[in-house]
Amino acid sequence: MEEGNFQGNQFKQITVLSLGAGVQSSTMLLMALHGEFIEKPQCAIFADTGCEPREVYQYLNWLELEAKKYDFPILRCNNGNLQDDLLNTIQGKTTRFANPPFYVKTDHGAPSILRRYCTQDYKIDVIIKAIREELIGLRYKQRVPKNVRVTQWFGISTDEITRVKSSRHSWITNQYPLIEKEMTRDDCLAWLKDRGYPLPPKSSCFFCPYHSDKTWRRIKEQLPSEWDQIVELDRKIRNGFSKIRGELYLHRSLQPIDTIDFGEFLKDNSSFENECDGVCGV
Ligand code: SF4
Repeated sequence: MEEGNFQGNQFKQITVLSLGAGVQSSTMLLMALHGEFIEKPQCAIFADTGCEPREVYQYLNWLELEAKKYDFPILRCNNGNLQDDLLNTIQGKTTRFANPPFYVKTDHGAPSILRRYCTQDYKIDVIIKAIREELIGLRYKQRVPKNVRVTQWFGISTDEITRVKSSRHSWITNQYPLIEKEMTRDDCLAWLKDRGYPLPPKSSCFFCPYHSDKTWRRIKEQLPSEWDQIVELDRKIRNGFSKIRGELYLHRSLQPIDTIDFGEFLKDNSSFENECDGVCGV
């Protein structure tokens, strides 16, 4: 925590980096370690849904080792395992249901999509809790002192500029260092390659309905363990939630995921721009 003076008042400034362990936020972290921004955050926070593909956890382990060389902490925090919680809800063991954006076949057969609460529950609230409790030292529901100011960095690049938005909390200012440097996702990849760093995999829950067909196909071909779990989850969500009317699907076509031919020449048509809190898929 840095101390300073603002309009004659002492204040404490905390800057944190929201880490998703994907391309943009990992590049932002490494750039910060290299001193490529005017300031450097105190730490990075990774909100773990427990459902990233194995390759993302491997990359995160590598990032932690790299950050350690600069004496830079990465906090891993969680609010449970999203997949386990979904399966427990389906089995009636809990009523917790933080909707992922599942696709719904309505009574009329028309496609719809569930309002998304998973990002809030398993990512955003987890990061806010870590800032409040671990960085500021507050208890549950304790008010943030007026002299504490927090800046939260998000790894959004210029090709996803629609995801930029203001914080919902008056004591937090959102900042987008990659946008300020006018960097695209490809610029991030080029920066990593130039320095000989390994390239991050795509981060997001392995079953996220926002995946592009290209990503679904890659998981199916390259991550068999994750794919098996996707097929099973897709089958179990179909009529798994008593409060939801209509059949649920992971894929926008409203077809069982294991029956879909993802073809060969696919566009990267992901829907992550709908996740404008800026914490998933970066
Ligand atoms: S990656 Fe997808 S399923 Fe996971 S928390 Fe984000 S929106 Fe929800």
